[in-house]
Amino acid sequence: MSDWQQILHTGIDTLDKLAAKFGPDVIDVDALKPAFDNFQMRITPNVLSQLKEVGDPIWNQYVPTVQELDVVDGVIDSLDEDGDSPVPNITHRYPDRVLFLVSPVCASYCRFCTRRRKVGDPEKIPLNQYESAFEYIRNHPEIRDVIMSGGDPMMLSDRRLEYIFQRLREIPHVEIIRLGSRITSHLPERITPEFCEMVKKYHPVYMNTHFNHPNELTPATVAALGRLADAGVPLGCQTVLLRGVNDNPETMKELMQKLLKARVRPYYLYMADQVAGGEHFRTMVETGLEIVKALRGWTSGLAVPHFCIDAPGGGGKVPLLPEYVEKITEDEVIFRNYEGKRFTYKQPRLPAAASACGSAAEQEPVVLPIRAAKPRKKSVRPRRRKTG
Ligand code: SF4
Repeated sequence: MSDWQQILHTGIDTLDKLAAKFGPDVIDVDALKPAFDNFQMRITPNVLSQLKEVGDPIWNQYVPTVQELDVVDGVIDSLDEDGDSPVPNITHRYPDRVLFLVSPVCASYCRFCTRRRKVGDPEKIPLNQYESAFEYIRNHPEIRDVIMSGGDPMMLSDRRLEYIFQRLREIPHVEIIRLGSRITSHLPERITPEFCEMVKKYHPVYMNTHFNHPNELTPATVAALGRLADAGVPLGCQTVLLRGVNDNPETMKELMQKLLKARVRPYYLYMADQVAGGEHFRTMVETGLEIVKALRGWTSGLAVPHFCIDAPGGGGKVPLLPEYVEKITEDEVIFRNYEGKRFTYKQPRLPAAASACGSAAEQEPVVLPIRAAKPRKKSVRPRRRKTG
């Protein structure tokens, strides 16, 4: 058993262990059991080290609560991933890329998980059904980007990961491979020198990390991110907007700035999905728009992720932007900047045929005047005397 696997086994994975750590008055084992039975729990030592008190932003993400059992308008498969699944373990929604579920398990389990209907259950993400997934990718030349996910793909051994990388690299039209993983936050010890050496052989391999709060960037996590960046793995981050975790501009700004410092480019900020069991994490959309408004212009553009709703029912990611533009006419655009000041941009005076207003057939052709070429002046530069 490797070191990271041993560390994994020292995590907390039962309510009794949780009660022993925080006290039975804090952890009511009987009350929490239905939530625990519904979606399993594991909290790794690195996460435990960030968990300071009941109800703090880390606690809320990982400790089960009775609120998980209140289902109002949440749905089990809120993004209808199974509806777009042509073969087991593959979701093919967008034209040129697929989601490939390669691992059923995670190092720690996030209570808001969109895929909680499957995650933690090896029968729902079977490890012995890769073959039909490889075949599907091979038979679809439009697929140039494969996103390995799960569960967490980094829970697989290096041997199994390398096998998947090799098989994907045998398919000529697969240009990039992405790992969707929260491992750098949950179990930074998993980013071993051996993994970093191995992954270099299969580039370009990207990693989409997942951080929701600045406290998650512990020294061990930042060091693991550095090892990946040094191994040539471009790092992005997906963040979920969560009530009681990061639903204010100050926390989000600190998170984005800390990510950049750790060589991670903030990529997406998602509205929490309408998933059954995770409804208590949802905020109003306006909260997200206010956060984006508080970031754009006020800090580096690199620190501003795309704010999106992953449309319920499988509509895909839809970007949302605060209102900057007040009016667009043929002549000008009136908008406000990040400070709320109003500015005007003049539209270019295009030749009529190229204008967006009116079809080319309705317009007279534009004849540009041609000037007669002027005779060239003789050079007035003095001639060089020959020397020598
Ligand atoms: S790491 Fe990702 S897949 Fe695993 S429980 Fe958290 S959100 Fe779900």
